[in-house]
Amino acid sequence: MNALAVATPVDLTELRATLAADAGPVRFVAGGTDMLISGRPLPETGLLVDLARVAGMAFIDSCVGDVRIGAATTVAALAADQGLRTRLAALCEAAAQCGSVQIRNRATIGGNIANAAPAADLIPVLVAAGARLALLRRDGTQCEIALGEYTQISGQLIMEVILPESCLLPRSAFVKLGSRQDMTISRLNLALLAEFRNDHFGLVRMAAGAVGPAPGRLHLAEAALAGRKLEAATLHNFISALVAEVDTAIPGRTSRLYKRRAIAGLGLDLIAQAVGLSPRDRLFEDAAQ
Ligand SMILES: Cc1cc2nc3c(=O)[nH]c(=O)nc-3n(C[C@H](O)[C@H](O)[C@H](O)COP(=O)(O)OP(=O)(O)OC[C@H]3O[C@@H](n4cnc5c(N)ncnc54)[C@H](O)[C@@H]3O)c2cc1C
Repeated sequence: MNALAVATPVDLTELRATLAADAGPVRFVAGGTDMLISGRPLPETGLLVDLARVAGMAFIDSCVGDVRIGAATTVAALAADQGLRTRLAALCEAAAQCGSVQIRNRATIGGNIANAAPAADLIPVLVAAGARLALLRRDGTQCEIALGEYTQISGQLIMEVILPESCLLPRSAFVKLGSRQDMTISRLNLALLAEFRNDHFGLVRMAAGAVGPAPGRLHLAEAALAGRKLEAATLHNFISALVAEVDTAIPGRTSRLYKRRAIAGLGLDLIAQAVGLSPRDRLFEDAAQ
């Protein structure tokens, strides 16, 4: 049996040549926080390509038009980027709440997507933001797919995460419940992008993680807010919609009763963050009753 070979390309040219030269199974390691630290078995054969030293894979381009993020960008870099915060604050918030300082300094956005944990913190924001992925195939060709179409295929590399300008809305927020350390079924996270002016919501895009096998859009909850005034009746309808989302996503699960209650409170925190009010504001306190 062949042993595991390790490649450490330093730029995109070398990376492409490495992938094209090897026909066997290929795995990537970026920050290594899922692959190495979480204690899962490493591949014993094939080729392991280290992405950590590849120049040109870690960047955040958020100036104008679509936001483009290199797959090897660390979670810490996302959390700290002021340009990104002005375009999609929720992604910075989600990044700031990922694991510990040490984890954030190593973990990458590409690894978070490829690992595809149901409770991954960056993915709900990316889903709500209509993210697309630029992929590099083994033969050197590139393609762009919707985030929801991505599955991990040997040797297929996520190069960039693209957030289309048309999906980015002026307000955004991210909230989560539970700690990654516990990684239990009680964990929940929510992301929201919205237009909000003169106490009224315009367009709304929402997604949740850890409600079902993969993070997904919350169309019922979006409809409960879109075009509505921020007032008690809207919040009550919003909570009912969130609860209906849980009932639809995990009908037979024992966690359903807990998540029905949890998503209501978390949803109110999400709205408070998005519109810049305190979650202790009377409006939210009353809605929580
Ligand atoms: C203690 C601890 C706490 C954590 N807390 C959180 C948390 O709070 N929230 C959260 O969301 N996650 C958390 N994680 C999970 C992990 O840190 C994230 O999923 C992280 O973003 C993974 O990135 P990475 O670069 O370390 O991935 P790696 O471990 O390097 O890789 C993970 C997987 O992705 C693949 N991969 C990596 N980059 C690419 C690419 N560019 N293209 C294709 N495939 C690729 C690898 O082959 C591997 O299969 C935690 C992990 C640990 C160990």
